[in-house]
Amino acid sequence: MSSEPNLLDDIKEHVCTCSAGLSFTPDIEAFLKMPMRELFVALPIHMDNGSVRVFKGFRVQYNEALGPTKGGIRFHPDETIETIRALAAIMTWKCALHKLPLGGAKGGVVCNPKELSHRELERLSRAYIRGVYQVIGPDRDVPAPDVYTNPQVMAWMMDEYSKLAGKNVFGVITGKPTSLGGSAGRYDATARGGWYAIKEAAGKMGLDLKGATVAVQGFGNVGYHAAYIAKKHFGCRVVAVSDSKGGVYAEEGLDPEDVSGHKISSGSVLGYPGARNITNEELLELGVDILIPAALENVITTENAGRVTPRILAELANGPTAREADPILYTNEVHVIPDILCNGGGVIVSYFEMVQNQYSMQWDEAEVQKRLEKKMKEAYHSVFDFAEMNNTGMRQAAYTLAVSRVVEAMQLRGWI
Ligand code: GLU
Repeated sequence: MSSEPNLLDDIKEHVCTCSAGLSFTPDIEAFLKMPMRELFVALPIHMDNGSVRVFKGFRVQYNEALGPTKGGIRFHPDETIETIRALAAIMTWKCALHKLPLGGAKGGVVCNPKELSHRELERLSRAYIRGVYQVIGPDRDVPAPDVYTNPQVMAWMMDEYSKLAGKNVFGVITGKPTSLGGSAGRYDATARGGWYAIKEAAGKMGLDLKGATVAVQGFGNVGYHAAYIAKKHFGCRVVAVSDSKGGVYAEEGLDPEDVSGHKISSGSVLGYPGARNITNEELLELGVDILIPAALENVITTENAGRVTPRILAELANGPTAREADPILYTNEVHVIPDILCNGGGVIVSYFEMVQNQYSMQWDEAEVQKRLEKKMKEAYHSVFDFAEMNNTGMRQAAYTLAVSRVVEAMQLRGWI
């Protein structure tokens, strides 16, 4: 995770540009550039070898004008409060863009989960919830999975919160296992939602998805499902995938399920039989029809943007494109489906999970997917139409729509 260019500065710049178009006062603009609440927690953990290690955790609640704040918890060794702050802002715009009655938040713990045992991970997950207990809750702030956290972590966290509350509170967290109040279809919602948007974009551009070439950067939950859906549901040719160690390329296309098996047994996609090893940088510059960054932030910068030339750039990661790189993509006529639009499927189905928990209901997967497709289509077309009408790029259109909804809510509440 690089700290340059700075994601939070990018977010502030986006707000500046929106504010010029929407004529906010400087005070409103300043308010939009700062989080409403931040919490730092120190988490002492008894390790399996008898020692005690103290981990650092954060929770940032960026803006709650539209409703309880919502956003994932990242477990990453390079985590910083600045990144969490920027990602909490991104969640605010994402929920607003998709018309969810939710604000934006993000959390993180500085740790390397790959070096923790199962029980150490459980203790850390529970300690984090004890640390943030006072500021979260179904109608305050509802965490979810994110980088290196998963349904098991959500289950421990829900259980810890419930113990402290003295009753079951399933709605305190989303992305839970389906046997514990999780929603059907949450596991692949981000990737599936992204594909609903890509389908609409391909339609606009006259791109036939059958046989279209696809490259996916990142092979975690989101990247794997994006590659799987590309091949299985749309008949695309997935020519390249990568993980943090590097990538593989095969002109005739890869079988994502098989590559996943190779990764599980060997620790990486690298060395997949019949494919050529490539670097993450090379993958971004392959010139495929559809490029899907699905890993970390700031991978497309001014340095490489001129060589990143897919027909569609579908941002399933949060913040993969640095702000200064965006005009280069625009000039090169890359159709960008910006992160707050493209990866909204995760939080949309999280919202469905909250609704189901509230009413003790369980929708089946077909119901969830039908509702998800409707929301993604609506959001895609609202951004596309706004961009056309105002002669701007897709990112600018998405930000302007989102920020104006947050401002309207703040005005109606009498905050500003
Ligand atoms: N971590 C996901 C995101 O960045 C999902 C958040 C959620 O479900 O609340 O959008």
